[in-house]
Amino acid sequence: MSRRTSSVQRKVRIPSGKSKKSSAKKEAKPGEIPCGIADCDGFADKHMGGRSLSQENAIDTWGEGAFTVRKNRVRVCKSCYKIWKKDNKDDMNSHY
Ligand SMILES: [Zn+2]
Repeated sequence: MSRRTSSVQRKVRIPSGKSKKSSAKKEAKPGEIPCGIADCDGFADKHMGGRSLSQENAIDTWGEGAFTVRKNRVRVCKSCYKIWKKDNKDDMNSHY
């Protein structure tokens, strides 16, 4: 029913050739920090979207002993962080 969106056109186009994105390959930087989750082969490096969770958070999702703790933090890869986030979605809505 809304006709407004169809006529709106964004003219923000970056001219090709000057952008550095095309030359940078995704595999350029290998991961260095392995994901802390035991049955995961991912990498928790920052440039790969990794995150660090607290031990309590990790236990809630994966259970005790199913991950490696580093300096009281659990390094998780991007996909594991997504799993954790999904698992904790309900808690986030009802914060007090
Ligand atoms: Zn992982």
